[in-house]
Amino acid sequence: MKIKDSYDRTIDYVRIAITDRCNLRCFYCMPAEGIPYEPKQHLLNYEEITRLLRILGEAGFKKVRFTGGEPFLRKDFIKLLENTHALGYYKSIHITTNGTLIQKHIPKLKALGITNINLSLDSLDKERFETITRRNDFEKVMASFNDLLAHGFNVKINAVIMNGVNTQDIIPLTQLAKHTRVSVRFIEEMPFNGGYKKVDDLFTAKNIYTTLKGHFQDLTPQVTAHGDTATVYKVSGLEGSIGIIPAFSRSFCNTCNRLRITSKGDIKTCLYDGGVFSIRDYLRSGASDAELEAKFKELIRLKPKDGFEAEQLRVKGNNATESMSTIGG
Ligand code: SAM
Ligand code: SF4
Repeated sequence: MKIKDSYDRTIDYVRIAITDRCNLRCFYCMPAEGIPYEPKQHLLNYEEITRLLRILGEAGFKKVRFTGGEPFLRKDFIKLLENTHALGYYKSIHITTNGTLIQKHIPKLKALGITNINLSLDSLDKERFETITRRNDFEKVMASFNDLLAHGFNVKINAVIMNGVNTQDIIPLTQLAKHTRVSVRFIEEMPFNGGYKKVDDLFTAKNIYTTLKGHFQDLTPQVTAHGDTATVYKVSGLEGSIGIIPAFSRSFCNTCNRLRITSKGDIKTCLYDGGVFSIRDYLRSGASDAELEAKFKELIRLKPKDGFEAEQLRVKGNNATESMSTIGG
């Protein structure tokens, strides 16, 4: 079974931010003092998340990503992974993490058949890493990266590239893909930082491409997977690959396959919408499985054409500035 939106896009990938809490303070994501966290009872509990994943799985969803905030900060995250695995609908369970807390869980993740981890790493320079994340965890993240590779995980590196901050890290970061099948993806900065700063000097996907092309003349575009937001390139001399994600330019919306559930249970049918429905409140009001499924289908049918339309449709004054820690990326 497939759920399609009104633009004939098959929507079969759900991303859930299981917490809004984080132990880093990446400056593109939130202010130094952090964001006001939701009271715990406002977050979806594991039973609720598992129920929603079952309903989506029954309706044809095939891919799930757990994100946050930092997903490994939430108590018993492994239990949620076990429950999701047991549902049997999601062949691969994906996680996006900052890598600071994952290390001790790696054997368990492997045992659960989890193979895909996206690790955020914006610089290989310890000082710059600390400036960007406002925390002192560079070694921990690198140790996790190496451990994940040693255990055979497919690792994607997410690096947000910002003018005047870490453009000099682009080429060094590509070297992470030299001897392994790592995919290093460079992301345009988006305005989702809690509203404390404007993004007015964007280092665009085009700028990233030009930087890469200046170094790797044989940058060769690859055919990408269904719904992939990155343009992926191979380069001779790199075993892995390089990707560029035009997250702000939004040139990938025509192949979008995603639905997002924020930490407090709001549905986002587009990253740039303001949250279109509280599935948490609906569920807690006693909605049946059939009603929840019908609601998901209705919301997907109304999914906007692209991120620009979604942004325009936001309620006036509710600009696209909420912290990514509540959305999940
Ligand atoms: N804490 C985890 C992590 O950092 O990987 C998961 C949540 S984080 C919000 C998910 C992704 O969003 C990260 O790769 C992060 O780099 C990206 N991100 C956060 N704020 C962003 C922004 N303003 N623009 C672009 N990407 C952003
Ligand atoms: Fe935390 Fe991830 Fe946001 Fe950084 S990007 S502050 S690690 S949620």
